Amino acid sequence: MRWSNYYLPTLKEDPAEAEVISHRLLMRAGMIRKLTAGVYTYLPQGLRCLDKIARIVREEMNRAGALEVFMPTVQPADLWKESGRWDVYGKELLRFQDRHGRGCCLGPTHEEVITDLVRGEIKSYRQLPINLYQIQTKFRDEIRPRFGLMRGREFIMKDAYSFDKDDAGADRSYQSMFDAYMRIFTRLGMVFRAVEADSGPIGGSFSHEFMVLASTGEDTIAVCTACDYAANLEKAEAVVRGAGDDAQCPPAELVLTPGRHTVEEVTAFLEVGPEKLIKTLLYEADGQAVAALVRGDRELNEIKFKNLLGAKFLTMAAPEQVRVWSGAPVGFAGPVGLNVDAVWADRELGLSRDWITGANQGDAHLLHVDLSRDAKINGYADLRQVTREDPCPRCGAGLELPKGIEVGHVFKLGTKYSEAMDAQYLDEEGKARPMIMGCFGIGVSRIMAACLEQNNDEHGAMFPPPIAPFQIELIVLNVKSRELMQQAENLHHQLETMGFEVLMDDREERPGVKFKDADLIGLPGQLILGEKGLARGVLEAKSRKTGQRSELALDDVQAQVRTWWQGILADWGLHAS
Ligand code: ATP
Ligand code: MG
Repeated sequence: MRWSNYYLPTLKEDPAEAEVISHRLLMRAGMIRKLTAGVYTYLPQGLRCLDKIARIVREEMNRAGALEVFMPTVQPADLWKESGRWDVYGKELLRFQDRHGRGCCLGPTHEEVITDLVRGEIKSYRQLPINLYQIQTKFRDEIRPRFGLMRGREFIMKDAYSFDKDDAGADRSYQSMFDAYMRIFTRLGMVFRAVEADSGPIGGSFSHEFMVLASTGEDTIAVCTACDYAANLEKAEAVVRGAGDDAQCPPAELVLTPGRHTVEEVTAFLEVGPEKLIKTLLYEADGQAVAALVRGDRELNEIKFKNLLGAKFLTMAAPEQVRVWSGAPVGFAGPVGLNVDAVWADRELGLSRDWITGANQGDAHLLHVDLSRDAKINGYADLRQVTREDPCPRCGAGLELPKGIEVGHVFKLGTKYSEAMDAQYLDEEGKARPMIMGCFGIGVSRIMAACLEQNNDEHGAMFPPPIAPFQIELIVLNVKSRELMQQAENLHHQLETMGFEVLMDDREERPGVKFKDADLIGLPGQLILGEKGLARGVLEAKSRKTGQRSELALDDVQAQVRTWWQGILADWGLHAS
């Protein structure tokens, strides 16, 4: 490809709205342009990269036996009502009406559509298992679209759905997708971890997220420093440590804590550590008033709490509700005499019998609260967020909490949709049973951003060879020289015949501009052809990743390029295929 015939508008300056490096680079390297919030056009260079990512995803999905389909983006509301998600899915679901007043939405995901398809076609256990996937545009009206392709409103996802006749089959489908994802992210040249993720009320380890490690990630993961335990913070199990203290607790005692609302204020006033206090957090869960108790120095994990309750909605109580349920303004709620439907305590609170809590009256706390003696607790459960100080729940070694970007998600759905939407098959005995489903997503467009978060330097992008828009940039220094241009054309042709994708910078620009742009757009290999080199029968070669330069002899150029390219693949920890 000749740059002069191509559409690759690079930018010298960082766009003002781009907060993260990948967004800056995608814009500056002429890959995407914004249409409106969270909605982007892919320019030719961006599309080439996207297509390469999609190709790798497709190859591995096909290898795993999944079959490609292509579903509509516009979906009827009726299907969503059938599954029960029309009312549950938040404002991310963009809803509208057609001219006949029929409710529609833009697909944020396709469980409903695929279940509708499969229930109409698959009747017998003989037709199972089946795994169908697509690579398609999704729309989610994200509250905060940001970071360019990282969190778009319109984005490209690979989504696959498996249907099995029994649990063992569903587990095999899950494993096969898990393995395919490992191959996909390895082939994409990414540094990633598969982490245990929250699987909602199903529980168990039937949900994994594939996380690219990057400081700009929106997710936090807990990673063991010794074993291979890794979990999303939402899911990471908090280990209860320390021996229980069975000492008798003196009777509860009211103390005045005027104007002290926060844990810091109360504990400073009472001259105790925050670990002596219980935080009482009030929520509304599907219309019920519930309370969660955690130690003063801990954070409640709302996902754990929601799963424990099996609730569809969990929202923090408004100040007026707090006043009704506790009889006190915010900051003074406590478990003793609390007027709610259920009170759950973090497991750690079982270790001691002498706590400080809110007194359910303004400006007061209670000392010496023994939960088993003074309060009505529905149960103890793992409710808190893990911290860096916590041990690994598997092996007891330390935990690290790095940031990650979720690029893929495998999930065992069970019969949630097949039951709600009546997707049944007849088993060997002729008995109707719901199909067991799994769903498996990959953020194809997000991968482009995640890849750049991992691979860049102060000069620009560095694309891993498998997904680089072109593999080699051929920089011609003086395009006015006919001899040089002839040599360049010849070389361009030879490289393409060898199977390389080559972008030839034949623009009438100063060498400095070309070098800068070459580093910015970040193709893995650069070949530089100038008059001085030509006179000596050589061209200069550079690896974008290592910056290493070498000279290749023009009269042996094919063999030398091949060896040089193998070196570049090795720089990336890849082998020639
Ligand atoms: P997140 O927690 O980041 O919002 P999610 O859990 O909603 O993601 P899934 O429903 O599991 O995402 O979607 C599958 C994949 O699609 C995700 O792993 C992610 O890579 C990608 N994805 C989800 N939302 C977006 C978005 N707004 N922009 C780009 N990619 C996205
Ligand atoms: Mg997810």
